[in-house]
Amino acid sequence: MGEAVIEVRGLRKRYGELEAVRGVDLRIERGEVFALLGPNGAGKTTTVEILEGHRDRSAGDVSVLGYDPGRHEVALKERTGVVLQQTGLEPYLTVAETVDMFRGYYPRPLPLDEILEVVGLKEQRDQRVRRLSGGQQRRLDVAVGLAGDPELLFLDEPTTGFDPTARRGAWAMIRNLRELGKTVLLTTHYLDEAQALADRVAIMVRGEIVAEDTPAGLVAADADAVIRFRAPEGAAVPENLGFGEREDGLMEARTTDLTRDLHTLTSWALDEGVVLEDLTVSRLSLEDVFLRLTDEDEDESEEAS
Ligand code: ATP
Repeated sequence: MGEAVIEVRGLRKRYGELEAVRGVDLRIERGEVFALLGPNGAGKTTTVEILEGHRDRSAGDVSVLGYDPGRHEVALKERTGVVLQQTGLEPYLTVAETVDMFRGYYPRPLPLDEILEVVGLKEQRDQRVRRLSGGQQRRLDVAVGLAGDPELLFLDEPTTGFDPTARRGAWAMIRNLRELGKTVLLTTHYLDEAQALADRVAIMVRGEIVAEDTPAGLVAADADAVIRFRAPEGAAVPENLGFGEREDGLMEARTTDLTRDLHTLTSWALDEGVVLEDLTVSRLSLEDVFLRLTDEDEDESEEAS
């Protein structure tokens, strides 16, 4: 095992009657890009803000770079960078002036050129903040988070509201951060983003972590595949084949025994002379796994109530 940058045991946070974080354990190693996922209200922001030292915890042990963030030590602040969803930067300063201002707050700042290179704002160096696009402003937020050359960076929903091109740009930036050896704790609502960027992901539901693995591992742990096809006009698909019709007219079934179920389907089609149009077999995506994990929890809580 590598060196733990973040180690959390039995973390709990209560807001009055509501227990928003209910016994979370986490270990994030140096150099990892780790994504914390979960539906609205799962407790992600609460957890991350406790790690950042912005909220107190009700119970549990938390170590960030060997410090307890609850003690608000300057030495820890100097070694971490926090990129919040909304940061208010001075609109009339240029990109370089903004980053330099923040560099001035730290004992060993990262060189300006290196920061601009990593976040992809070299060409906007002398542009005023108010003239930047939304995506460029977000990258400037990250540049500011990098000013002190932090070992650990918290990135809260770094691409919310981005167009597809800007998102790809932000993804390239996060890959650059990994190459610099930074540890990144990312929260995002985009599962493709987590799948593309994260070394490991944890899925949080109702204050608990319900799954944690590499994106590929999470998908592979789910043995299911999905078979889809389009039935020709008038062809009745026997119910015992287990297919349901989707809104777009495709027939769909999940299977844990692909060989058998595909054989059953194609045997029926051959016997009946049915052409299986648009036949596809696919593994589940991280999004499918996420939806299943979060749905299961909904079902359980409905049963309980
Ligand atoms: P989102 O994806 O919507 O940002 P989240 O996973 O970050 O959600 P949290 O913001 O941590 O979730 O909230 C977890 C639960 O705690 C929610 O039910 C929320 O209403 C509640 N909560 C959060 N902050 C407070 C607070 N300061 N006081 C009381 N309740 C709070």
